[in-house]
Amino acid sequence: MRYVSTRGQAPTLSFEEVVLTGMASDGGLYVPESIPPLSREELEAMAGCSYAEIAFRVMKPYVNGEIDDDTFRGIVRDAYATFSHEAVVPLNQLDANHFLLELFHGPTLAFKDVALQLLGRILDHFLAKRGERAVIMGATSGDTGSAAIEGCRHCDNLDIFILHPHNRVSEVQRRQMTSVLANNVFNIAIEGNFDDAQAMVKASFADQGFLNGTRLVAVNSINWARIMAQIVYYVAAGVALGAPHRQVSFCVPSANFGNVFAGYMAYRMGLPVKQFIVATNANDILHRTIADNDFSKQALKATLAPSMDIVVSSNFERLLFEAYERDGHAVAALLERFQQEPTALAEAPLEKLRALFASHSVDDTTILEVIREAHHRTKELLDPHTATGYRAAERSRSDAETPMITLATAHPAKFAEAVVKAGFPGVPLPPHMDDLLEREERYTVLPAELEQVQKFVAENRR
Ligand SMILES: *Cc1c(COP(=O)(O)O)cnc(C)c1O
Repeated sequence: MRYVSTRGQAPTLSFEEVVLTGMASDGGLYVPESIPPLSREELEAMAGCSYAEIAFRVMKPYVNGEIDDDTFRGIVRDAYATFSHEAVVPLNQLDANHFLLELFHGPTLAFKDVALQLLGRILDHFLAKRGERAVIMGATSGDTGSAAIEGCRHCDNLDIFILHPHNRVSEVQRRQMTSVLANNVFNIAIEGNFDDAQAMVKASFADQGFLNGTRLVAVNSINWARIMAQIVYYVAAGVALGAPHRQVSFCVPSANFGNVFAGYMAYRMGLPVKQFIVATNANDILHRTIADNDFSKQALKATLAPSMDIVVSSNFERLLFEAYERDGHAVAALLERFQQEPTALAEAPLEKLRALFASHSVDDTTILEVIREAHHRTKELLDPHTATGYRAAERSRSDAETPMITLATAHPAKFAEAVVKAGFPGVPLPPHMDDLLEREERYTVLPAELEQVQKFVAENRR
């Protein structure tokens, strides 16, 4: 199995290379050269298997023997042993045919743990094998930073530097990052906003001279291994509800499209999926594209579901590549146009996409209404991201017979502000985190100056 770029110009890579590389040299994203099928028999045989075993079987063809089976089984087992629920990602039945897939039982209470617990361990394995060390740099306004830190804190060959805007992330989110006192974890509070932090990380990837040859690795959702890890829970949930003998549908609270693209991969591998519903908040580029063929940027809006606040949806490019029959030139031309001006998809790819995907956008007022309504009807307290999914599933599902699985992407305690705004007294943190507000913190405040940040990274890496 080799990996190819969505823009068709970059060299093909092995699994090991693709995990260590991130973005392709032609500006595209890496995808597998072919999609490995899961047969009916293989799906049938997964019924009753543990999550870790399903994960091993689903991901094995992508890893392509580059990690031996026993070692990879061990990596997968360790990654998911960090989750606090024995089912790892339990299904919770809301009503006759609507289910919540709870993806928030990992160390930082959001679905990004599913991928980052695995990615840290895979990176560490490959670096150890090569006798190399690497530096991870990332900017965060919340979820990704803490999940990346938790995924790397035990990695011998990785040092991780996460930049967050000083005094501009919630206390829970900051403490989830800064209370990790491992000696390879460095939190930098930038005196600036998220865009300043992001710009410095981008500049550091563009010119890595300050690291004197040490590799810089990206752990954002353009990394193929994150998508790969997320395919697993679609398969596990589908099998739990009767696949391959029965179709299922999914509704996914979406931003960069990494999560729902993983679902699409599960479908292409052979999981019988009737429909994917893409839920967005008021930052609705995905909804506008799917519903109105309006593929254009709009100004960023700060919403009650901040982890879905985006202008451009990076992983949508991976779906475009499939919709355009893997024509990298067509994808590159479309995205160049998109950078300049509002544009639209061609008719054939759009039709293909609409045969499988529906979409719905949910504004802040509606998020609060949904949190109340869902609690009244089901006794479940939804986080604001999951609330967009709950509403989109009800409004956009194509039929009532196919089981609808809405992905619960965060625990409500992580976004208690919205829950309180909806009229609830607050949400306690789960027991293993209830001392979070008393834990010791460690972080360094730096000005928004590239030179100082790079100097800090260069001096502190091990
Ligand atoms: C990151 C995130 C999302 C969006 O996921 P994408 O893969 O970017 O579409 C949704 N909900 C929560 C809670 C998140 O942290």
